[in-house]
Amino acid sequence: MHKHKSILKIIILTLTLLSLFGCNNSNKPTPDKDKIQIITTLFPQYDFTKEIVGDKGEVSLLLPPGVEAHSYEPTPRDIVSIRNADVFIYTSKAMEPWAIKMVSEISSEDLKVIDLSEGIQLIDIDGLHDHGDEDHDHEDDFDGKDPHIWLDPVYAQTMVENITKGLIEVDKNNETFYTNNSEAYIEKLKALDASFTETFSKTKSDTILYGGHFAFGYFTERYGLKHISPYIGFSPNAEPTPNRIVELIKTLETAEFKVIYYEELVDPKVAKTISDQTGAKMLMLHGAHNISKEEIEAGVSYLEIMYENQEKLKEGLGYGK
Ligand SMILES: [Zn+2]
Repeated sequence: MHKHKSILKIIILTLTLLSLFGCNNSNKPTPDKDKIQIITTLFPQYDFTKEIVGDKGEVSLLLPPGVEAHSYEPTPRDIVSIRNADVFIYTSKAMEPWAIKMVSEISSEDLKVIDLSEGIQLIDIDGLHDHGDEDHDHEDDFDGKDPHIWLDPVYAQTMVENITKGLIEVDKNNETFYTNNSEAYIEKLKALDASFTETFSKTKSDTILYGGHFAFGYFTERYGLKHISPYIGFSPNAEPTPNRIVELIKTLETAEFKVIYYEELVDPKVAKTISDQTGAKMLMLHGAHNISKEEIEAGVSYLEIMYENQEKLKEGLGYGK
């Protein structure tokens, strides 16, 4: 709690300094006052919101390119931007535990806050509760719940519906426009879901062997898959569990499809070690929390990331074999 208080002091001080000396950020275009200003925390909702809002609003992504999402905390400048925005969209208190506190502190009647997990039953972090001797600190940080709802194409539809509902509350004039865009995008998410269902009806293996922190809990639940990952919880400082690494190596030694997956934006040390031991091929399974500078420049979308993941899962799980 003391940490929060001192952070708050620093924030207030910085806000004061910014207002004294002005905040002329020449890298960012001046906001167009006629359009609603929307700030999103993670890449999926940034991409979803742009699909819905079209040219009626300006959408920005809080996470800088390439930054690891779980260790992210907002900067004073971020807080200024959120305070000046019309809409702030975050995933859930499990993903951005700082969001609720921050929003209550900057309380502004002009700011519409959208929690995208509304209507979604968050599941417990895999393995957290059956390892009594593990460090329980992350239960406080992450509420013991798995935050990765966006990787389930069905929950992604709920997220899109939540965004649409919130936008309409703020900008009733464009209700039909938002509803039409939203429905069109939901059709694409339904097609993605159907495509995954088809894929996993034809894969020989049902187990994802993953060297990173496992972000695909809702995804595997949706499609009836299993996974082995050496990490418990999502703390960026978490250490991999040695016996799970051994389990991965043993599994890969006898596996028909020798693929070890690794996560985006993080050095894949564990997957590399396992690959060196077993000769398994390393493939990236993109958790879509955030994207790199190169991906932003290439204009990559959530749907592209997910279809790319699908190709890699076909390879690692033996599609059509
Ligand atoms: Zn994650």
